Amino acid sequence: MIPTYVTGFPRIGKKRELKSALEAFWAHKFPFHEVQNLAKSLRQKHWQYQSNSHINYIACNDFSYYDNMLDTMVMLGAIPKRFCDILDPVERYFAMARGDTTHQAMEMTKWFNTNYHYIVPELSMAMDLHVDISKITNEYVEAKNLGITPKINLIGPLTFLALSTCEGNDNFAYFDAILEAYATVFKQLSALDSHLIIQCDESFLAKTPEPKQLSLLKIAYEKLGHIAPHIDIAVVTYFDHAKEAVEILGNCPIWAIGLDFVYGEENLEALCYIQGKKLIAGLIDGRNVWKNNALKTASLITRIGEVIPKDQLIFSTSCSLLHLPYSIQEETKLDTCIKEKLSFAVEKLHELSELSHFFEAPIAYSEPVCTQPSSTSKPKLTHYTRSAYKTRESLQTKVLNLPLFPTTTIGSFPQTKEIRSLRSAFKRGELSAEAYEKAIQNAIKACVAFQEEIGLDVLVHGEFERNDMVEYFGEQLEGFAFSENGWVQSYGSRCVKPPLLYGSVSRKHPMTVEWITYAQSLSDKPMKGMLTGPVTILNWSFVRDDIPKSEVAYEVAQAIADEIDDLQRHDIKIIQVDEAAFKEGYPLRVEKIKAYEKWAVDSFKMAVNSAWDQTQIHTHMCYSNFNDIIHTIEQMDADVITIETSRSGNKLLKVFQKVGYKAQIGPGVYDIHSPRVPSVEEMREQIEAFLHVLPKEQLWINPDCGLKTRGQEEVKASLKNMIEAVHSFR
Ligand code: GLN
Ligand code: ZN
Repeated sequence: MIPTYVTGFPRIGKKRELKSALEAFWAHKFPFHEVQNLAKSLRQKHWQYQSNSHINYIACNDFSYYDNMLDTMVMLGAIPKRFCDILDPVERYFAMARGDTTHQAMEMTKWFNTNYHYIVPELSMAMDLHVDISKITNEYVEAKNLGITPKINLIGPLTFLALSTCEGNDNFAYFDAILEAYATVFKQLSALDSHLIIQCDESFLAKTPEPKQLSLLKIAYEKLGHIAPHIDIAVVTYFDHAKEAVEILGNCPIWAIGLDFVYGEENLEALCYIQGKKLIAGLIDGRNVWKNNALKTASLITRIGEVIPKDQLIFSTSCSLLHLPYSIQEETKLDTCIKEKLSFAVEKLHELSELSHFFEAPIAYSEPVCTQPSSTSKPKLTHYTRSAYKTRESLQTKVLNLPLFPTTTIGSFPQTKEIRSLRSAFKRGELSAEAYEKAIQNAIKACVAFQEEIGLDVLVHGEFERNDMVEYFGEQLEGFAFSENGWVQSYGSRCVKPPLLYGSVSRKHPMTVEWITYAQSLSDKPMKGMLTGPVTILNWSFVRDDIPKSEVAYEVAQAIADEIDDLQRHDIKIIQVDEAAFKEGYPLRVEKIKAYEKWAVDSFKMAVNSAWDQTQIHTHMCYSNFNDIIHTIEQMDADVITIETSRSGNKLLKVFQKVGYKAQIGPGVYDIHSPRVPSVEEMREQIEAFLHVLPKEQLWINPDCGLKTRGQEEVKASLKNMIEAVHSFR
């Protein structure tokens, strides 16, 4: 039998118990020792699931009250100076994560290409590193008391360093100090038991590491590998292949190398470098919800087995199961045809454990009872029929007749408590369709009236009918399903419930036409139709993996194209196709970027291909740095792009000038992420700065993202100021 290994397990709780406990604690309604008790019982349950599935290597220290990177800072004593005045460790921990009245929270960003966010370490030379392994010790002893000898999960030193922001901007300058602290951690841990396994997550190795990083990798594991003979180190990578690193790790004094064969099949080419070490082969998909494809896994194992002897093999999940919901047992309403395709974290444990018999008994492969074919007429971008930008521009100018520096917003207006309860009452069936429609119409009416009153040029309906920009479309399209409890941790106590894109996607009926045409009927100004683009819909869903992602994207694109056509036939002249998640879908590996860009651009173009030349297509993206992807953005060929540059002034806009970008741009004159009202003067300065790099004819004036999370009063004041700022320029 081949031993089984689980990289890590979710921690928020099957019913998001940790979320409730933390939020009650933050609201001063629950003492911290109660949160600790709950955390302990969650850890027990999670270990129990794994031992019930006969998993051989089970982790401790994969638990966290907020985030594992933050835990690592605490373990190393890498506490930024500005938090050192807080003496209570619990208070300090959450102040670092969330800020408090006197401390600004630390920055948070996406964990590689997942939707999990970690706290970004801030290293400075003055930092006095002080190792503290108490969290690990507690969890280790807890597991031992349950009869489980766990491995210890750590973020590896190189990954910790690579993901930190460092004073002086030279991360390598901190290498010695960080490595020394890790060495101390290892020394202290060595007293815990007579034999220990320490897992070091070196996930940055999947991101095309630089030669310098690879040489430090060698130095790091040479050192850590020699700390104590009874410590076995497993260096684990995931989310893509880590070919360059394998050769180096193969020569380090470590016990095992963990490689992801689901998202990094190229790892097969590096097997010859594993030397005599254990190979932790990531075979069960840790980030998607579908049942394992046994045939594919069997072929992978066979190929691995040709190079690696059986007694060196360990089978594992492709990455931590953190990125998955708990269990399909929690789903009572899903169609059986969908349910039978699914496997969440707990089910993945069973799938993994079944693999352990691979060499004695071949894996049973049964065709699912309900198969979902992809559409027979495969959509493809064959002819892109929109005319050249200049032609479209002159037609649009005639039709729209907008002033210089046209003003608009990104789509959503504040979602008040009343709006939210309206939607949920309707969903629960407590509100009739007529009453709901009337109420949303009233919200639209008020929103349009306000925009007219302050003199915006291109109006929006406000998105009051939407809970979420992907869910709204998923709910109306064929091919999507929604779980009841499929929560996945996004950051801290926050979770998201991604739609399940399980089947062939198509549009059953118009999705937005009614709301948009209603809004348009209230005003003579152009009303902007508001859609979510195919790439964003895919990146924020669990997408079927039985056909290529590009094919799924084209199906979604076709549905959006149909909607665009409907809108323009109803006299909507401007349509925005949001691609908020376009950039986060980029692959980690440089060599895979081209293929992604190809289907991402093609599916966007396919979505907007139905637009007549005089229909103005906008897109919106939630980031600012376009340096690497400017040519891809050009290829998308939108008439107007609105982006999030408000925090960086015109610095990041220069690239549009540099490449001679022809279309129109709304760079975002103020930051909607902070609750303050920007002054007229401030926005004037911002517009002034934009004009240094962009011709006035190309410039749109708008906030930098949707206003949904903001308060009504501040939004009104901010937009009024924005309009006033524009007037002086006209
Ligand atoms: N139209 C969406 C909104 O305004 C865009 C959201 C986003 O960029 N994330 O809410
Ligand atoms: Zn945005």
